[in-house]
Amino acid sequence: MAELLAVEEALERVLERVRPLASETVPLAQAAGRVLAADARAATDLPPFASSAMDGYALRASDTPGTLPVALRVAAGSPATEALPEQAAASIATGGVVPEGADTVVPIENAGEANGRVEISGAASPGAHIRPRGGDVRAGQTVVEAGQRLGAAQIGALAAAGVPHVQCALRPSVAVLATGSELRSPGEALEPGQIYESNRVLIATVLASAGALVEQLPVVADEPDAHERAIGRGLEGDVLVTSGGVSVGPHDLVRRTADELGVEEVFWGVAVKPGKPLSFGVRGGTLVFGLPGNPVSSLVGALLFVRPAVLALQGLAHPGPELEAGRTTAALRRNDARDEFLRARRRFEQDGVVLEPVSGQESHMIVRAAVADALVHVPRGSGEIPAGAPVRYLALA
Ligand code: AMP
Ligand code: MG
Repeated sequence: MAELLAVEEALERVLERVRPLASETVPLAQAAGRVLAADARAATDLPPFASSAMDGYALRASDTPGTLPVALRVAAGSPATEALPEQAAASIATGGVVPEGADTVVPIENAGEANGRVEISGAASPGAHIRPRGGDVRAGQTVVEAGQRLGAAQIGALAAAGVPHVQCALRPSVAVLATGSELRSPGEALEPGQIYESNRVLIATVLASAGALVEQLPVVADEPDAHERAIGRGLEGDVLVTSGGVSVGPHDLVRRTADELGVEEVFWGVAVKPGKPLSFGVRGGTLVFGLPGNPVSSLVGALLFVRPAVLALQGLAHPGPELEAGRTTAALRRNDARDEFLRARRRFEQDGVVLEPVSGQESHMIVRAAVADALVHVPRGSGEIPAGAPVRYLALA
């Protein structure tokens, strides 16, 4: 392995090879988790009319305090075409159209109605409890910008603004391939020397949550022909992620096979622990990631490099990975050659996030990693980060 690339530089080299995918029209109800390819604009003013924020009485503030006849009754959804007569009130429901002429709404709690008249004892202020037309957004204004991923609030906003379809980036097709003659699927019996294969589901989980359409290819033995067939197949999609077989052993066939199939290797070897022998290459529009086989190495590699690539393919404005601020409970020794990512448990305390590294940080210890909800970043260097010092971390949840 030549010189190791710094994590940031490796990520940069990945992202500069990403060509955003084309887009398609998606019904709003199916657009959760998708990334907008074009600004989505409001089809209407929102609210579409001046509406009441309370159950109460719409009237003229200048008529208060006083007692007024209730001349109109406005429910939510009633068209309220009539204007409010002089010196009168309209009973109105939350969401009802404020009739023309009224400039305030007095909540029902502050009014007393009897015999068709309503008594308002206090002075109402103009504009109170009225949601002005277009107060949230105006027709034609942007509701959600291109490059944003649609979550619950965005989907709800688009529906409220009358948007039935949105233009979204295509979901990247990702093939996940595990290599290793020792691997068996959970449920099968283990013969001596065999272990259960965990990385395909692990990688698929990381990438599906980033919007990828993931296909898990069959496991391949450490044998050239099998590698060639499987990698050839995986190269048909937008992204191929392999696990295992990228180190320097005689059975590590992934890079060699990829090379034979025309993959241009962009880099191999990142200054990161775990995950050092990670490789990245491209063939045509296909991005090819070779993740090391130890499960925690695969997890870290998928989170640091593949997930951002999958998001960038969809045109996400900030594909991450987004590190957050916290404090470490334990002193952390720095590695002079590689950035380290330690599995940790996160607690929310009054003065911020506290991170407690879990025991068992070796890269094969995926079950120890399962109790963690954060990866603490320990930048390469000398000495140690003292207990209580600020650190940055990647949330795993
Ligand atoms: P490799 O990167 O192929 O040298 O594998 C490194 C270590 O990870 C070895 O102990 C492998 O048995 C293990 N390993 C490789 N692939 C997987 C996998 N898909 N699931 C679980 N362990 C794996
Ligand atoms: Mg292997």
